[in-house]
Amino acid sequence: MLYIDGQWQAAASGATFAVTDPATGKVLDHVADGGAADARRAIEAAAAAFDGWAGLTAYQRSEKLYAAYHLMLERREDLAKLMTSEQGKPLRAARIEVGYAADFLLWFAEEAKRVYGQTIPSNRAEQRFMVLHQPVGVCAAITPWNYPVSMLTRKIGPALAAGCTIVLKPAEQTPLCAIEVFKILDEVGLPPGVVNLVPTSDPVPVGAELLSAPEVRKLTFTGSTEVGKLLMAQAATTMKRVSMELGGHAPFIVYDDADPKRAATGAAMVKVLNTGQACICPNRLYVQRGIADAFIAALADRIGKMQAGSGFTEGVQIGPLVDQPSLEKVDRQVRDAVAKGATVVTGGQRLTDGPLADGYFFAPTVLTGVTDEMVIYREETFGPVAPVIVFDTEDEVLAMANDTEYGLASYVYTNDLGRAYRSIEKLKFGIVGVNDINPTGAAAPFGGVKSSGLGREGGQDGITEYLDTKLVGLSF
Ligand code: NAP
Repeated sequence: MLYIDGQWQAAASGATFAVTDPATGKVLDHVADGGAADARRAIEAAAAAFDGWAGLTAYQRSEKLYAAYHLMLERREDLAKLMTSEQGKPLRAARIEVGYAADFLLWFAEEAKRVYGQTIPSNRAEQRFMVLHQPVGVCAAITPWNYPVSMLTRKIGPALAAGCTIVLKPAEQTPLCAIEVFKILDEVGLPPGVVNLVPTSDPVPVGAELLSAPEVRKLTFTGSTEVGKLLMAQAATTMKRVSMELGGHAPFIVYDDADPKRAATGAAMVKVLNTGQACICPNRLYVQRGIADAFIAALADRIGKMQAGSGFTEGVQIGPLVDQPSLEKVDRQVRDAVAKGATVVTGGQRLTDGPLADGYFFAPTVLTGVTDEMVIYREETFGPVAPVIVFDTEDEVLAMANDTEYGLASYVYTNDLGRAYRSIEKLKFGIVGVNDINPTGAAAPFGGVKSSGLGREGGQDGITEYLDTKLVGLSF
């Protein structure tokens, strides 16, 4: 179903599309297939609702977000199970994601009340300057499938807190999770039109409608860099504000003073996060020569023992990839690397034994001897493959780490404070984890530089993305 102007409804065309389980290939459900006409109605509803919503007090808006936070936690188990069916991640990881998603509702329920202004002294005695922050207006949100609940609340939370209304287009693979999130928003009693949901099997006409609409004042997008650039160009025609959370190609640097086993444990865990389908997953693991053998052995041991399968099976750490093209991309990158001289230490191929045959499973893999001529060295993998590169000096590794168009997450393992600090300052990334594989949280500003995007989500910065600054000059 679509959710427009407070009503669950079919698409204007009457069309639906199938949603499948990536672990089994089975159809889970059919969802209304929104088109340009539906997007237009959603925009009009959001525009009509804007003045009323923006006109509420921050306390009133905050109450709705608190209510949504509590309801989401009450539904945690059901939402997690649905996510495992629809997206494939292990149930334990799905539960964690629902908690993370709810955190954004809580954080922005609190931030709603902290949209402060400013007074600035003037050099004229009879003049005062004042700065106000006001909601930007109707926002279009386009979200990916890999975190099908938290990527929604990371946008809806701050938009609603700021006083904006929103039209959201979820990923084609995960509309069912989006529908459950919107059921929560419906049940907490948001006024009609404040939030609107338009799932679709064809993002182009819906995206074009959202981006050409003069009423839409902001685009908030999470997805690939390729699509992000396309949407940003479309948004330019009506000079919308944009927030872009795009792809990554994270370096994971292990210096020779670090404990190789501890670093390998961290690397393995963050590499297989969401089966490698997270924008912060390391895509290049750099280890200093002195501890390279110990690190590679520990990494291969850890990754080689990981169990792949249905996310509902206890002990499974590796779920399926989301679809066939994703599986083919991972396979193509591994074959390219091997053809150019890389060694497969563990894994390296598709998994098709028994029940895995029906899903999109790829073995957790460690590659060594990876060089910058290989596709995997530059292209985001989005799969459970860990490419290892050995380095000698700090300068050398920082230059290699920065040699990418991306700039989202980066990681450093060291016990040397100087090395840590120099690396933090020199890495051209929006996020640096130092002996830390989870540098994220609702209270922290998440985002990238270069082709990884613009703007920040979460933290204090998260809400400013949805606020315009107004300067007032007041003379008397
Ligand atoms: P994607 O192919 O770029 O899709 C993202 C969203 O954009 C989907 O809703 C998609 O709809 C939509 N879309 C695609 N083409 C469009 C068009 N022409 N007009 C309007 N909308 C369009 O990315 P993905 O494969 O879903 O997600 C994986 C990517 O997201 C990776 O690159 C990952 O690094 C990135 N990501 C970044 C962050 C971050 O915070 N930086 C977080 C998570 C993921 P359809 O589903 O219908 O194609």
